[in-house]
Amino acid sequence: PPARKYTGMVEDCCCEYETVDSINEEVLHPILQELVKLPFFRYFKVKLWCDCPFWPDDGMCQLRDCSVCECPENEFPEPFKKPYSGLSPDSMICQEGKPQAAVDKTLDSKAFKGWVETDNPWTADDETDNNEMTYVNLQLNPERYTGYTGDSARRIWDSIYKENCPKYPSEEMCHEKKALYKLISGLHSSISVHIAYDYLLDKSTNSWGHNLPLLYDRVLKYPERVQNLYFTYLFVLRAVTKAADYLEQAEYNTGNPEDDLKTQSLVKQLLYHPKLRSACPKPFDEAKLWQGENGPELRQEIQKQFRNISAIMDCVGCEKCRLWGKLQVLGLGTALKILFSVDGDNHLNQPVCNSFPVSNTLVICLNILLGGQLQLQRNEVIALFNLLNRLSESVKFVHEKGSSIEEVIKEQ
Ligand code: FAD
Repeated sequence: PPARKYTGMVEDCCCEYETVDSINEEVLHPILQELVKLPFFRYFKVKLWCDCPFWPDDGMCQLRDCSVCECPENEFPEPFKKPYSGLSPDSMICQEGKPQAAVDKTLDSKAFKGWVETDNPWTADDETDNNEMTYVNLQLNPERYTGYTGDSARRIWDSIYKENCPKYPSEEMCHEKKALYKLISGLHSSISVHIAYDYLLDKSTNSWGHNLPLLYDRVLKYPERVQNLYFTYLFVLRAVTKAADYLEQAEYNTGNPEDDLKTQSLVKQLLYHPKLRSACPKPFDEAKLWQGENGPELRQEIQKQFRNISAIMDCVGCEKCRLWGKLQVLGLGTALKILFSVDGDNHLNQPVCNSFPVSNTLVICLNILLGGQLQLQRNEVIALFNLLNRLSESVKFVHEKGSSIEEVIKEQ
């Protein structure tokens, strides 16, 4: 095999590239691939309306369910016909009219048994708002090339990077902001990898396959994007293993005992796999973050930025991209919630708790402890595992194609 390009420790993480590839390919990828097909993990509750709060004049994002509409001219209200200044006429074409961008909403109503519904402080959608939500079968809607491109897509990424997780010169950036940037960049790499993995190669014959030049141009050419993909993978993996007790006990009930037992057993296999526990016991060290004296304010600031990113997902002008964008941002929000909203080991290190047992401080400490109980809702668990699966697929494809494609490109 060609020489490895990425060796040593994944930047700002706790495991080596070689280890990540081997635990991914031997343990995590096979388990996750099976897990996400099971009923519990294949239905995702999502608000797919395109209620963009930021650019109300964007014609791409005006119809509630663009996927069932072919967007004929006469269906657009007058104001929608006005081109958005700065958008080219091409990007005004409703991407959602394209079959590959539409979400298939066929589902199996047996699969739903409620979990506790709480709101995630890291994301913008209120998950308890059931009237706004629809269920989507993720297996019918793979993340792949949709044809969503141009100014609208570019504007979303630009706004995420410029306003909500700017890339500062490394020496100026605190760990926490750097981590937020890396998480988003890693997710962006993963989305690009999925586009390259499953691309519409020939429209006339509807043939799909790998687009390796695209993989190279968008991801492999930039070592930082590959590094950030591995970082994000390890970050989410750490969240999953940190929440192991909770995830092991959670109720994976869809009304089909056989499938549900299988789900439970695969989750356990993943959480406690000996190879994972020995080769990469702590994929990311969250205790290093928020240590500075302005930790709490910083956490609030970053939480606000992340919520903004989550809100921007309502502006993604292609339904299927919006679906996967929202799922993965909720998955990241869930990882952030597990790692930073609850800190099982470090509760008593909080300054207020050090003065235990002064009586009113005791009450505050108890509140922190009780309020700190990890509580995830079903949709968060679904998003978390599906995100981990997407990242795992991306890491595998990058590892498989990474070195060989560079050889091919060098030879050309
Ligand atoms: P883009 O991917 O749009 O990148 C824009 C700019 O961001 C680049 O020029 C570069 O400066 C920077 N950049 C790129 N990658 C990284 C990185 N990893 N880290 C840091 N900076 C980076 N299209 C589909 O076909 N299928 C989908 O499922 C899909 N889902 C999407 C989900 C979301 C949330 C969004 C915003 C877009 C989605 N798209 C999807 C569109 C897709 O991501 C691209 O925007 C589109 O294919 C155009 O690509 P591009 O080459 O212009 O570069």
